[in-house]
Amino acid sequence: MDRSSAGSPQVFKTIKEFRDWRRSVRGSLGFIATMGALHAGHLSLISRARELNDNLVVSIFVNPLQFGPKEDFGSYPRTFETDLELCRKLGVDTIFSPGTEEIYPDGKDHCTKVVPPPFLGEVLEGHFRPGFFTGVATVVSKLFEIIEPNMTIFGEKDYQQLLVVKRMVRDLNMPLLVEGGPTIRADDGLALSSRNAYLTEEQRKIAPMIHRILSDVIGQFKSEPNKLTALVEKGKQQFSKTASIDLQYLEVRDANTLEEVAAFDRKVVLLTAAKIGSVRLIDNLIATP
Ligand code: AMP
Repeated sequence: MDRSSAGSPQVFKTIKEFRDWRRSVRGSLGFIATMGALHAGHLSLISRARELNDNLVVSIFVNPLQFGPKEDFGSYPRTFETDLELCRKLGVDTIFSPGTEEIYPDGKDHCTKVVPPPFLGEVLEGHFRPGFFTGVATVVSKLFEIIEPNMTIFGEKDYQQLLVVKRMVRDLNMPLLVEGGPTIRADDGLALSSRNAYLTEEQRKIAPMIHRILSDVIGQFKSEPNKLTALVEKGKQQFSKTASIDLQYLEVRDANTLEEVAAFDRKVVLLTAAKIGSVRLIDNLIATP
């Protein structure tokens, strides 16, 4: 449905205002959590949730708890007016965009935290970004508590995050459905990310190499299903030949549990993080035998 003529979303900045609105909602409520700087990746999740629900909330909150002390919390792109217009076009009913003090009134270091199990939260991204998934799980649980959605969609682009959220919902008996949405890419394969805005023109030309290497490696899984470790090693060598990309990890894991796998005998995910200059990018591809 074309919703471009729909009214502007209501914007709530406080939990109280949001809850007053929530009480009036009839029918199902879908929810997409974002840090703003919306791009076509976010928009695909919003459109899907719009189709599936009677009502739709998007949150825009740059969560300080998930940024490390040397990370880009201060410089993270903030484009509220553009985000609002995009949400209007997609027929979003309500935007919840609290300030930091609303979510962490006693400061982010003085709140109760939700800690994912180490096998999900401390490997891969969690190894390179200590505390990251505790920051994510804590804010997402707070948002679920405030918004009380019936369902939510998280992007497969942040694959480990999707598993962390699904696991939290299951472990804490939260009453909502969590779905994954496919990764949206630029024409040259680069996964869309708010952080792509940090890339210089030169770096932007190099960045699609990440997806190219992932595709190369995963494309060989079917023909050599017992040689996953060797194939991933070959992928790492491809990265090392590209001097301007600094690989942090390239690993193949069970797509449901993130356990290490040696053979292509189940659904797997090939995950990577790499830095181009100071810009850190993540990506992944999923494959089923
Ligand atoms: P963020 O604003 O980066 O916290 O992302 C908000 C949501 O959008 C998360 O569920 C992300 O996984 C999802 N997302 C980000 N980039 C993409 C993309 N390229 N394709 C699909 N979903 C995405």
